[in-house]
Formats: sequence, C-alpha cells, structure tokens
Amino acid sequence: MSLIREEDVIESVAAALQYISYYHTPDFIRAMGRAYELEQSPSARDAIAQILTNSRLCAEGHRPICQDTGIVVVFAKVGMGVQWQASRDFEAMVNEGVRRAYLNPDNKLRASIVADPAFKRANTRDNTPAVIHVELVAGEQVDITVAAKGGGSENKSKFTMLNPSDSVADWVLEVVPEMGAGWCPPGMLGIGIGGSAEKAMLLAKQSLMEPIDIGDLRVRGPRTKLEELRMEIFERVNALGIGAQGLGGLTTVLDVKVLDYPTHAASLPVAVIPNCAATRHLHFTLDGSGPAQLEPPDLGLWPKVQWTADPSARRVQLDGLTRADVESWKPGERLLLTGRLLTGRDAAHKRICALLDAGEPLPEGLDFHGRVIYYVGPVDPVGTEIVGPAGPTTANRMDRFTETMLGKAGLLAMVGKAERGPEAVAVIARHRSAYLIAVGGAAFLVSNAIRASRVVAFPELGMEAVYEFEVRDMPVTVAVSAEGESVHETGPKAWRGKFAGIPVAVE
Ligand code: SF4
Repeated sequence: MSLIREEDVIESVAAALQYISYYHTPDFIRAMGRAYELEQSPSARDAIAQILTNSRLCAEGHRPICQDTGIVVVFAKVGMGVQWQASRDFEAMVNEGVRRAYLNPDNKLRASIVADPAFKRANTRDNTPAVIHVELVAGEQVDITVAAKGGGSENKSKFTMLNPSDSVADWVLEVVPEMGAGWCPPGMLGIGIGGSAEKAMLLAKQSLMEPIDIGDLRVRGPRTKLEELRMEIFERVNALGIGAQGLGGLTTVLDVKVLDYPTHAASLPVAVIPNCAATRHLHFTLDGSGPAQLEPPDLGLWPKVQWTADPSARRVQLDGLTRADVESWKPGERLLLTGRLLTGRDAAHKRICALLDAGEPLPEGLDFHGRVIYYVGPVDPVGTEIVGPAGPTTANRMDRFTETMLGKAGLLAMVGKAERGPEAVAVIARHRSAYLIAVGGAAFLVSNAIRASRVVAFPELGMEAVYEFEVRDMPVTVAVSAEGESVHETGPKAWRGKFAGIPVAVE
C-alpha cells in the first residue's frame, strides 16, 4: 500500500506549475514548428515566428510564456489503495502547491483569480483556488494532471444541446468563426460529446490534456467514427483561413481532440473549449517514493526560428504622435513603436470612463490626449527586469469604453490582441483613430521592447493599474485603420479554403 505524503503533493504541484509556466510541451513545439514551415501568409508566419522565439526565450530564461499565467485546473485520479500522511485535505494540498508556485520569488507568476466574481472581484493575490476534479480509481498511486488555462481562450468556450440528429461538425464550424481570435490561435480545440451539460464541458477540457498527434492520425487514417470526426473538424476549421492571431492563414488549429460519454436518448450535449498558443499542462504520478521528478526538455527540440523585426516595418515615434500620423497607417502594415505609451485594461477603463462620464477629473498626472494605450496586465518583474512578460490582452472587452476613451479622454490609438466588434470599428473610423495588435502568446518577447515602466494611476489595482511604459521597437500590426478597415475581416476571407491537402506535423 503506497503512503502519499502531503509535502510530496504540494511540492509536485508547485514544481509542475512553475515548469509549465515556461516550458511548452514537446508535441506542441513540434506542431507549431511544422505550422511555421507550412505557413504561406506573411502575417501569420511572422506571428508564429514570434510565438516560437518567445517559447524558446522562456525555456532558456525560466520566465512565463504569457503574462496570463492562467487559472489552475487539476485532474487527479486517486487510487483507492492509497494511504495518506497528511493534515490537510486534498484540495488544500493542491492550493498550497498553487500558492507556492505563483509566489515563487525566482519566477513570480501573475495572480489572476478574483473572488466574489459577480460583485467585488477581489484578487486573491496567490492565484488560488484551483479548479480541482478528483476521481477515485483502482490502484495504489495518485495521477495528477496540472494545467494553467489562459482567460482569453477559456472565455471562448461554447456549449450547446443539439438535437440527436444534428451534425456535431457543422455546429463546431458555426461557432469557431464566432470565437474570433481572442483565444490566440494556433492552438487546439477540445470537444466533449454526450453525458449531461456539465459532463460535456468536463470532457472537452479533459481532452485538451492529451498530446498533439493528429499528424499520426492523418498518416495512418482514422479507425473509428470519433477519429473521422476529429479529421473532419481539423480540416474544415483550418480551411476557414482564420490563421495565427486571426490574421488569415493556413493553420488555425494544431489538433482537434474529442472525448465522448453515453448520454440521454433525447439529448446530444456538445462542448468546445479552445486551448491557446500558451497551451500548458503536465502529468505526473505519485507512488509514495517522493515528489515528482520533472526533467527539463531538450532545448534542441525548438526549431531554429529566430524572430527579428521586419526590416520594411515602419518606425513610429510615439512622443509627439499626431492624428495625421495615425491616419497614414495602412491595414496590415507592421509598425515598430518607440517612445512612451500608457497601459490599461478592464478595471482601469471602468474607473476612467466612470470619472469622465460624470464630468470629474482623472487622477493627477493621467492624461490620454495624444497618447496610445496598450491593453496589458503585466507579470511582476524579477531580478533586474523592468517588467515581467507583458503581452496584449483581448481588446474587445474594452469595446464599450472606446467612444469615451477616443472622444472624451483624447486617446489617439490602441494596442491589444484579436478583433474589435463592429461598433468599436465604427467608433475608431469616426474618430480617425487606429487599433494595433501585438502577438498574444509572445509576452516575454514583447517585454524585451519595454525599457522603462512606472505606475501612473490606480496602484491598488495591481497588474490592472495604469502604467507608463517606455518602449523601443515594439512590434505591432495595424489591425483597424482610420478608415475602419479590419484585417480580422479581410485576412481570413483571403485565406479561406487554401488549407486543403497541406500535410500537417507527424510526431
Ligand atoms: S496565449 Fe492568449 S489566450 Fe493564451 S493565456 Fe496568453 S493571452 Fe491568454
């Protein structure tokens, strides 16, 4: 009979969370490398190059792949023959592991969890609690899978109750375009079919814990109806042309995973959950012999892709930027930003717009006239860093504030990730503003462009405070021009249908 020590669980969970914050899994690296080789859309290829370069930098520097270090999800299979040497219950052990991982001073991770979600939304400061699923199984060991799921991709999860005669693939093809690019493709789709409503969601999430292997499946051919379904969805979704970061391209998904479960004769519950460019999960087993031993991956696994700024990119000086400069930017054009920009995301926008709409002044020193805002919530710096990983957050959450920010606050342009909604695009065109995107999932790379940082307003909001960053050659792409042309509309249209027949990664 195995004796599992409390400290082994805590230490292993903490080590696993640190590990996945900076190491992509080998299957993911291989699949992304293959997507890079095959990609023909210059914008999508540039985005994938940034993701791969960022991934390698994070593996070498032991810093997070993305500024959103995720909500922790744990799947545990506890053998019924196990004995415990523990004073805490299992959930408390896991949460202690989460706490230690996220507060580790050598690689502090961003605490993103808020309690009282419908009202106060107060940050718990240590990223606890995790979402924990425990199964009791036969045997004498404890199998644990730890994942850190980004909010941008989790927010795009979908669920439906189909009629039993409906096509699962058709529904998935209907909802994927609605997800936009806020889930930071290329990534994976996890699909759960059957059971009850909550079981289908759980299956979808669990399926994402499996390695990317659609290349093998493609070579040997599907043997079951579920494998046929995986292949069909994989090919049809990629044929949509959404591409990396929604810019239009050949690879939107690196794999499609499906798990199913018996269901009621009247029902066909289906869930789809996307996993993003920061796909992070790790499996380990405890058998009483001590904490999990996690081997670092071989750095030779990473393809020899080194992103460098496009020499034809336009250099933009942010200090002294004028409306005429902004109006001259072309949709899809690559820019390198130098100078000072302000930051802000959900909580800061809410406060700023409430003050402006009430005719009250902004906090002293906070002035958006003639400035550019970057939607970001950075990781705290460690050592000599100026700022931790600082990639963009999903911009359309700020859509409802855009009129006030452009009209009353005097903002000139915005930087975020993924598409804007039609109303925000119309507001941008009306104010002759522009919306720029940085690559989601390349946060460490982006932070290398930040040369100075100071808090300007709302320090009590932590990572959601307004900072002023001084940047040098920060790479962005014009996603919505002053004319209101959106590359998230035009890009996928141009690449729709070009995927057919292109081989994918073989493990
Ligand atoms: S890659 Fe995108 S969706 Fe994933 S955690 Fe980072 S910002 Fe969020």
